[in-house]
Amino acid sequence: MTDETDIGTRDRRGYFTPNARLDIAPMWRWPWRLPAFVAWLPHYFLPWNVLFMASGLAFWVWLMPSTETMQSLSPGWIARLWLINTVAVLIFYGAAEYRLYVQRAQEGRYKYNPVFPADRKIKAFFKGSQNLENALLTVFSGVTIWTLIQALVLSAWSNGIGNWIAFADNPIYLIALALIVPVIHQAHFYAIHRLIHTRWLYKHVHSIHHKSINPSPWSSLAMHPAEHLLYFASMLWHLVIPSHPAIAMYQLHVAGFGAIPGHTGFDRVEVGDTLIDPHAYNHYLHHRYFEVNYGDGLVPFDYWFGTYHDGSPEAEEAMKKRLQARRMPQT
Ligand SMILES: [Zn+2]
Ligand SMILES: [Zn+2]
Repeated sequence: MTDETDIGTRDRRGYFTPNARLDIAPMWRWPWRLPAFVAWLPHYFLPWNVLFMASGLAFWVWLMPSTETMQSLSPGWIARLWLINTVAVLIFYGAAEYRLYVQRAQEGRYKYNPVFPADRKIKAFFKGSQNLENALLTVFSGVTIWTLIQALVLSAWSNGIGNWIAFADNPIYLIALALIVPVIHQAHFYAIHRLIHTRWLYKHVHSIHHKSINPSPWSSLAMHPAEHLLYFASMLWHLVIPSHPAIAMYQLHVAGFGAIPGHTGFDRVEVGDTLIDPHAYNHYLHHRYFEVNYGDGLVPFDYWFGTYHDGSPEAEEAMKKRLQARRMPQT
């Protein structure tokens, strides 16, 4: 068993705060320091992005229908894709949820919020259950829209629509593109996330996602269908920029599965004697305070536009001042 006091503290109400402050990726810090960049690089790839790259590639190589089949948008193969995606979601999301929230393998160690959502009935959710509502939204709206966007892009590729290039034609460009897939995701996500935090869209669309103040893996894709549409539209960039369908699949999996780590609700996940950092604190703070960390530090828009919360008391104070200023009547 590991000891959470090595990396953080708990307040009187039982909330866990990691000692380390969040930071933006070192390439955005001036002066540019090569050693810091080299030290950060493994965190960019491991373990998540390598995993999503592998799953995107595996889906493309083994699980996609033939080119001829995908040329027409017929329901048969699209339904099959939906089923494959649903099974994958149940495995990936289910495994994270089961281990941490059903089996409670590490009990409450490293958990930011001391409460497990299943232990409380919350009236705002369907049948009072955060898990049930979130799982239903994920599978029936989330995976459906995920699949429709995937079918659209793959069908476009099958029909030669888009700027598709073969790996042999320009391997250096395609490798470079694959390397920046998470950056594209972050830029896209930040833009749509700011949009749905505008008053009307927040009230009618994004507030569904924010019902999970204390998120668990099932909260990741608990969204209004309009948000699912905007969120998974990140794959459509690959119809615009020169790309390869395997990289488009990687982009889709960064969106589809990449949402899990940020919603684990734990600062560290125990796997045997190893502690894995899901990088969840940044987005946990967004769920807790709404007005901070619309993106993460990979492309630090929040840092540039003044909504970055790095977990420090100073950032907390700055946030309170911003909110207060907003409430003051305009003169
Ligand atoms: Zn979220
Ligand atoms: Zn939000």
